[in-house]
Amino acid sequence: MARYIDAVCRLCRREGEKLFLKGTKCVSEKCTLAKRTNAPGQHGLSRQKLSNYGVQLREKQKVKRIYGVLEKQFRRYFMIASKSKGVTGKVLLQLLERRLDNTIFKLGIGLSRPQARQIVRHKFISVNSRIVNIPSFLVNKEDVIEIKAKEQPLKKLRENLEQAKDRTVPSWLEFDLTALKAKVLRLPEKDDIPVVIQEQLIVELYSK
Ligand code: SF4
Repeated sequence: MARYIDAVCRLCRREGEKLFLKGTKCVSEKCTLAKRTNAPGQHGLSRQKLSNYGVQLREKQKVKRIYGVLEKQFRRYFMIASKSKGVTGKVLLQLLERRLDNTIFKLGIGLSRPQARQIVRHKFISVNSRIVNIPSFLVNKEDVIEIKAKEQPLKKLRENLEQAKDRTVPSWLEFDLTALKAKVLRLPEKDDIPVVIQEQLIVELYSK
């Protein structure tokens, strides 16, 4: 699958806010955005006033970048959300938040979502005792997530957990650090997402 491989800090500069794409660097004073707030590129110094469409587009791009999801998959999430019984924007965010790579990031097993995606792909994670190597796998209420890595990879994941120890595990998850086992207590809600997202703008964009 195609992936964005350019310098990820450019994405934060483009959106003008922290998207937390680089693990511990994002919460330190080394964050690029602390030094350079202008958008990247030749015309980056001037931020133009955006049209309504531009505002909606930027919000969608921001959310796609936060979760590392490409257009086709993002649109698929929107279609699922729009056909669901719930409020479309809220269900859309819930689907993104329920991704296994995001869950691994939220637990601190991966220091960034890209790293969490790699951890899943390398088959270091099981859900309900079955190895799952699909980052887009959606976790459900009552699911049990375990670290299955051994020796060297396990050592690395323990180091990640140590580095992330000050990070608060969201209340929809419960993590037993001794057993390296987590449980999904409930489905995530918008309030569980620490980034300000105006999901209504995305709904308006796709509803045109
Ligand atoms: Fe964004 Fe993290 Fe880079 Fe800061 S360090 S600009 S939050 S990716």
